[in-house]
Amino acid sequence: MDYISSRGQASGISAAEAIIKGIAPDGGLFVPEYIPRLTEDIFSVMEGWNYQERARHILACYLLDFTESEIKQCVEGAYNSKNFNDERIAPLVKLGDNKYILELWHGPTCAFKDMALQILPHLMSTSMNKTGESSEIVILVATSGDTGKAALEGFSDVPGTRIIVFYPEQGVSEVQKRQMMIQEGNNVYVAGVRGNFDDAQTGVKSIFSQEDYNQLLQQKQMRLSSANSINWGRLLPQIVYYISAYLDLRQGGSIKPGDKINIVVPTGNFGNILAAYYAGQMGLPVGKLICAANSNNVLTDFIKKGIYDRNRPFEKTISPSMDILISSNLERLLFEITDHDAGKVKAWMEELRSRGNYDVGPAVYQQVVDYFWSDYCSDEETIATIRKTWQEDHYLIDTHTAVAVNVYEKYLKSTGDHTLSVIASTASPFKFGSSVAQAVLPPEMMAGGNEFELLYRLEEFTGVRMPAAIRGLENRPILHKTICQVEDMQNTVSQFLNLE
Ligand SMILES: *Cc1c(COP(=O)(O)O)cnc(C)c1O
Repeated sequence: MDYISSRGQASGISAAEAIIKGIAPDGGLFVPEYIPRLTEDIFSVMEGWNYQERARHILACYLLDFTESEIKQCVEGAYNSKNFNDERIAPLVKLGDNKYILELWHGPTCAFKDMALQILPHLMSTSMNKTGESSEIVILVATSGDTGKAALEGFSDVPGTRIIVFYPEQGVSEVQKRQMMIQEGNNVYVAGVRGNFDDAQTGVKSIFSQEDYNQLLQQKQMRLSSANSINWGRLLPQIVYYISAYLDLRQGGSIKPGDKINIVVPTGNFGNILAAYYAGQMGLPVGKLICAANSNNVLTDFIKKGIYDRNRPFEKTISPSMDILISSNLERLLFEITDHDAGKVKAWMEELRSRGNYDVGPAVYQQVVDYFWSDYCSDEETIATIRKTWQEDHYLIDTHTAVAVNVYEKYLKSTGDHTLSVIASTASPFKFGSSVAQAVLPPEMMAGGNEFELLYRLEEFTGVRMPAAIRGLENRPILHKTICQVEDMQNTVSQFLNLE
């Protein structure tokens, strides 16, 4: 299968090339030429398989230029008991008759980004061997917090690669910041940016699109690539856990073949929910995809009105990994639902760039509402939802997962649709521990604690164990202190790479 650009100027790209390049030369995103379908026969066979076997089959549908043994190596290098603290990899937890939580945070950095970023470096090394790539690959990442650490962890000391991460200096939690500042590895670089996530992402995209600069890098035998969810190699592994969750439900007898499920996803850059859409297009019977936003509710407005409008204040929330106004992966969805109309997609993206909004018109909008439903959740509601879920279900959730649980309740109230629903849980509660502590600890236990102390109190009070990756974080030596202005991001890259 070949890959094409959502803006029309690239086609006939192999999976390996798409994964190495990350973003298409015309600024579009790589998309598979067609979406493979899984038949009912395959689903019933896959029921008996474990996560790794399911992953191998699904990846093979899209990576036709990879051999079976290459895919096996990538999958086993990523989803093993050294990297994940639950052998099921992405376990489902039942919270109610029709309400399941899909825990996606059992990887090394305690957020769902590990699901893709543990395997991406393997996919990338394999791709480089295939294409005979001789340049060093420089991974450039803008992060709202979780991607950065997960990418650092995935790429640290991977031969033939270097990784540079930019995070919004004031826009991530203490735990997230500390996780990045202590990262070890001979090929890792980290910088805080004085700006928000969109500034950092725009800065990174602009470095990618500067031809002169990319030529300069080429002369130095280096080549930029992306580990953000614009890279197809990030998105593909995310399709796996939705299908795997569906198979687990069938196997456990909660649903029968053909029964639909709803999927609820706390959404920022639209990568995770887009993977659920692809899973649906592959044959997973989806009722509704429920897009849960925080008060940066640009996607909720889009799904309610068909107009994407980023002209609004950027809100800093307690679910910072979703503080995003430009959801890059929506471009892929638009390309799919317009039957690959690159002209339209390109025009909308141009409008988004020049005036900050676009209107997809009634026909395309109808398609959007056929698949998606959306609402958003304020910070106050997020805290109340964490508290209620702890009190009623004795289950501890992080702020992002709480946004999804809250929006799911709004969905039930608004539609009365009680179809079995899977809610994606995207981070361990300890990763955003101070907000979680605020929600569940009695006020006297909150007094006088910094973010790290609160984690220990949270563990003590709830009896829920803190992941080993977070314990003791506050005592690890800080290795990365660089802070830069948005305008200086490119210079910072040059300094890191010793280009001057
Ligand atoms: C990245 C992230 C999200 C948002 O996922 P997208 O794919 O960007 O929509 C939600 N929750 C957490 C914890 C995240 O790290």
